[in-house]
Amino acid sequence: MSDIQLSLFEESNFDQKELIPTDAKIPIPAGTYSNITELAQHCNQCQRCELGQTRTHAVVGRGNLKAPIMIVGEAPGQSEDETGLPFVGRSGQLLEKILASVNLTTEQDVYIGNINKCRPPNNRVPTPNEMAACLPYLLEQIRLVDPKIILLTGATALKGLTGEKQAITKIRGQWIEWEGRLCMPIFHPSYLLRNPSKEKGSPKWLMWQDIQVVRAKYDEIRQNIPG
Ligand code: SF4
Repeated sequence: MSDIQLSLFEESNFDQKELIPTDAKIPIPAGTYSNITELAQHCNQCQRCELGQTRTHAVVGRGNLKAPIMIVGEAPGQSEDETGLPFVGRSGQLLEKILASVNLTTEQDVYIGNINKCRPPNNRVPTPNEMAACLPYLLEQIRLVDPKIILLTGATALKGLTGEKQAITKIRGQWIEWEGRLCMPIFHPSYLLRNPSKEKGSPKWLMWQDIQVVRAKYDEIRQNIPG
């Protein structure tokens, strides 16, 4: 057998999984990862989009890895890039307060992740190509955590996961079915920080309505789970 034939044979033995972090054209089939730790290792070496060049840490997720509720945000900001954890700045503190207002915690009930795992420079919105490059990681996270309810914070999370382009002000608080899961678009906590009014009809007041609806649905689902 010639050297060329031998090298072709070696190439056919390439483990496609090892190539995932190198190029967005390499697919990430469902079932690629058996746990979030494996997935996080790939994210931390990933160069599928150019956001990988400037990150300090890939921000994969935090919370209960088997949580019934998953919250999806846009992309890491500075504090998240520094710590490797999502929603740890002021937005994160507000999110924790919103959850606590209906007795939900990230230790028990919630897992938090993002559309993009790496911070976009100057906190700009991730581009469609960057979102598409990273989406398969999120799909794997959703498969592994297997939440009953997904909350999509803001327009980028909504569009990034479901492709839905409607304004968040129009669609927030409504249940959407996506891939057999119940999803609800809600305001991003950073939007609430910019709109501090608690008046009836204000974004904060609407968020309070939405999180109560989420809590009620969560209780309903729990009642229907045997055991
Ligand atoms: S944002 Fe996602 S796709 Fe882009 S380099 Fe980071 S982990 Fe890879």
